[in-house]
Amino acid sequence: MELDYSQLAQWDKDYVWHPFTQMQMWNAADPLIIGRGEGSYLIDIQGNRYLDGISSLWVTVHGHAHPVLTQAIKDQVDKIAHTTLLGLANVPSIQLAKKLVEITPPGLTKVFYSDAGATSVEIALKIAFQYWQQQTDPQERQKKKFISLEEAYHGDTVGAVSVGGMDLFHATYRDLLFEGYKVPTPYCYRCPLGRERDQCNLACVQVVEDIMEEHHQEIAGMIIEPLVQGAAGMLTAPVGYLRKIRELCTKYNILMIADEVAVGFGRTGTLFACEQEGVSPDIMCIAKGLTGGYLPLAATLTTETIFQAFLGEPRECKTFFHGHTFTGNPVGCAVALANIEVIEQTRLIQHVQDLARMLSGKLEGFKSLSHVGDIRQKGLMVGIELVRDKQTKEPYTLEENIGHQVILEARRHGLIIRPLGNVLVLMPILAMSEEQLQQVLSITYQAIKNVTERES
Ligand code: PMP
Repeated sequence: MELDYSQLAQWDKDYVWHPFTQMQMWNAADPLIIGRGEGSYLIDIQGNRYLDGISSLWVTVHGHAHPVLTQAIKDQVDKIAHTTLLGLANVPSIQLAKKLVEITPPGLTKVFYSDAGATSVEIALKIAFQYWQQQTDPQERQKKKFISLEEAYHGDTVGAVSVGGMDLFHATYRDLLFEGYKVPTPYCYRCPLGRERDQCNLACVQVVEDIMEEHHQEIAGMIIEPLVQGAAGMLTAPVGYLRKIRELCTKYNILMIADEVAVGFGRTGTLFACEQEGVSPDIMCIAKGLTGGYLPLAATLTTETIFQAFLGEPRECKTFFHGHTFTGNPVGCAVALANIEVIEQTRLIQHVQDLARMLSGKLEGFKSLSHVGDIRQKGLMVGIELVRDKQTKEPYTLEENIGHQVILEARRHGLIIRPLGNVLVLMPILAMSEEQLQQVLSITYQAIKNVTERES
């Protein structure tokens, strides 16, 4: 039976609780119901086509319904859809782990699978915590806390929220969270330390060093989104920031955890963002683009030193007691392998760099819009911060909901994007053509102009 739009829309309102969504608002509007995807397009059940300007929540690498990725899934399902990694191994998870060790920054040698960005972060935190607990030096066993950024976002599970810092999402849960040290986010447009861009001598790094110097004996690790604090509003860190953090972690014997969930798999113009500053973290989290955006799969990679600290006799209790039912799912691993193969075969990173260059030129044109305060770009990751007043940087209020209005306007012209508060996010599909990206930009430009000029 073919279900019609009004029936499905009603059932959506009756039964589905959408994430990060005020359901009162949601239920007052008609939902856009996607039926299928085709390359860079999402197609709704009434046949309308939309450019996917957010890569279906920052995940899609080669486009929707890509024949190679689809076939990899079909082939694996024909063999086996799931088997456990508890007490058994499976072929794609072995092949993928080997491949991941080959393509990630040097020094990472072991792969622990899970199924979402947040779980990869939970695993990183627990591994870092347990690593220090298993040291013979009693001083080192005191290392139990984490440093993270004030505006960090690492996912929505309790550990990930504890090292997160976005009040809008996280404040409600404060009493549920474990404590750690927070350091200022390099948000150069609105520097939390009140410094001027490019004249600050990375004062925010000094704050990190001060905390590490005083408290390193109790700090297990520092977690950071390399190069771009994504959900915080695409906050691009100054050049050299990440490398300095690496140096400080080494100096103070603190594990560096790189959360590459959003920036990994080509998004910033290199396969992994850490590469751009020659950084090898001690632990790295990957998800989103890992399967090309096709299936939920994540991984946490560690160095050999960390792994070795977990080896011992059963009575020593050094085992990492963590695992999810779908850990190392063979279908997810098979499509991740196909994704990496296509990245290599199509020289996708080169394509991303070419698109990013074109994008940065075109974004210059947005600066003349009277309510565009700041434009931040790294590779194919863009944040356009809208402000009420360009001179004073006065933000729009939450009630004005300006970002939401702009994305609805863009949607009317055939583009799906999402805001983060007053910041419009562009996360084009990495394999998008230059013409399609051009179209994403012109619709966005016009939508900002229409809405902000109507509002002012
Ligand atoms: N870390 C970062 C940097 C992210 O951007 C996200 C998701 N946007 C996560 C972790 C959480 O990933 P997931 O939604 O798959 O749990």
